Amino acid sequence: MTPVPTPAPVSNFLRTIIDNDLAQGRYADKRWAGKPGPASVQSQGDADPARIRTRFPPEPNGYLHIGHAKSICLNFGLASDYQGACHLRFDDTNPEKEEDEYVKAIIDMVQWLGFSWHYGDEKNCYFASDYFDYMYQFAEALVQADLAYVDEQSADEMRATRGTLTEKGTNSPWRDRPADESLRLLREMRDGKHPDGSMALRAKIDMASPNLNLRDPVLYRIRHVPHHRTGTRWCIYPMYSWAHPVEDALEGITHSICTLEFEDQRPFYDWILDHLADLGQLRRPLPNQHEFARLNLSYVITSKRKLLQLVREGHVDGWDDPRLPTLAGLRRRGYTPESIRLFCERLGVSKADSRIDYSVLEQALRDDLDPKAARSVAVLDPIKLVLTNYPEGQTELCHAPRNPHNPDAGQREFPLSRELWIERDDFREEPPKKYFRLFPGNTVRLKYGYIIRCTGCIKDENGKVTEVHAEYLPDTKSGTPGADSVKVKGNITWISVGHAVPAEIRLYDRLFTEAHPDAGDKNFLEALNPHSRHVVQAWLEPGTVGSADSAWQFERLGYFVADREDSTPEKPVINRTATLKDSWAPQK
Ligand code: ATP
Ligand code: MG
Repeated sequence: MTPVPTPAPVSNFLRTIIDNDLAQGRYADKRWAGKPGPASVQSQGDADPARIRTRFPPEPNGYLHIGHAKSICLNFGLASDYQGACHLRFDDTNPEKEEDEYVKAIIDMVQWLGFSWHYGDEKNCYFASDYFDYMYQFAEALVQADLAYVDEQSADEMRATRGTLTEKGTNSPWRDRPADESLRLLREMRDGKHPDGSMALRAKIDMASPNLNLRDPVLYRIRHVPHHRTGTRWCIYPMYSWAHPVEDALEGITHSICTLEFEDQRPFYDWILDHLADLGQLRRPLPNQHEFARLNLSYVITSKRKLLQLVREGHVDGWDDPRLPTLAGLRRRGYTPESIRLFCERLGVSKADSRIDYSVLEQALRDDLDPKAARSVAVLDPIKLVLTNYPEGQTELCHAPRNPHNPDAGQREFPLSRELWIERDDFREEPPKKYFRLFPGNTVRLKYGYIIRCTGCIKDENGKVTEVHAEYLPDTKSGTPGADSVKVKGNITWISVGHAVPAEIRLYDRLFTEAHPDAGDKNFLEALNPHSRHVVQAWLEPGTVGSADSAWQFERLGYFVADREDSTPEKPVINRTATLKDSWAPQK
């Protein structure tokens, strides 16, 4: 097998940043105790053996999608290129929407893509909820340093006093309460003495800041809701913008890479970490946040909320529906980990938002599979072809390469007989211009078999063609000296009727009819393509199913894979992964 060449890393702005950081010894003084922890833990550790640490931090509230693959390839890829570590961190600080099912599915998919969070003896798979004690400890330290206060305004009042881009916010009446009063209330919040929404812990920064994220952001809110891992132990939960930098710092992350919408959060990220370091809670050097443009793919939705809606409302058959851009769906559809990594490599990394055409993803699949996929023949829309001068009951073997790019893969063989299945579209009683396949009087080659001359067809009472007739020309079999004695322009695929194996084949089209189904406030459900799945009863070349292969290039048709859920050797069910030619390019 020819492996997909892994392109040499192309430089990008993140690599430039990392190169500079390493050249300047920015992390030279970093310690790592072998596990996440605050200054008291890390200062016990040795110099960190990992030159950089990155992380992939999914929230376990849905399945991973192709957008996540970009972040996974980037974070794990950079870590491995720089002899560093990449942590898998479940960002499970929001109790309401998170479930263990998602944790398992995320682990499965990151491994399937071919990445590992192990670094030497370190496992580096973490849960943000394991840091709740540290986060709380840090919150008390901030209160004691008069850098945070308990606010008793309602959420509505906080919103109303926050100001706008053009107007400053106004201070909360609770902003200047004594630190020990805030501390007492924070402890009462933690101990469950106050109902949801009655108070919140806020950082004390600047209600007049031009950056809205610095106008006393909320750190903790009260939620009397059990958590999928900590149960009922906590009834206060940290806000994302506060939890995230703390998680990064506890794990000794050097480069915290996130998507562009977090750019405005960076000042707060730095504010919180700097103060916690000044207070002796965190050890320097601290992590730094860097933003890149997220992946937007045409004809695809990558919001977990919207994907959840498609699944819950039954518009698709679950998270691994082959029409979804989830990694589970793409895998079931037949995408290989190599093709997805190749796609992400080709995307590169930039600071500018853009939309990538779906055809780029498909092309990566073709480029990966063409050199390695086993070839076979399938007939999706069969019509019978009778070779009227071929003896009844006779069969003979024909030979074809398993993979034309790889002679070492050897040959496959399959029988030819008097009755064959061919594609209905390979015969026209009245051919249009430039049609080189079967029509009365025309000659074509049965691929890997004989040249045949079409003699006519049989039709039913409605005029529908039910059988095509032809005569074969002896001495023209492929691979024999007479093969080139007759020149033909058409080449058609076929399967012997007596030997063909039946299979259900699922043909997929775009899930949405619009390139940007959820742009603006569009209702993406209105753009659902009612014809996104088309199931046909097809015939397969004998030996296709039951061989070592479970993915093929069906000649002239495209790339196909056995459905990992529904296919059995007795009843094959096969998905079309992609056609051979681009069917996704922007339509004219
Ligand atoms: P959603 O908003 O749909 O819930 P999310 O971005 O909040 O998605 P997370 O689980 O928080 O989902 O994402 C984990 C990581 O994957 C984050 O670091 C995020 O930046 C990254 N990520 C998510 N979507 C994309 C995308 N389309 N392109 C690149 N990276 C992405
Ligand atoms: Mg998120």
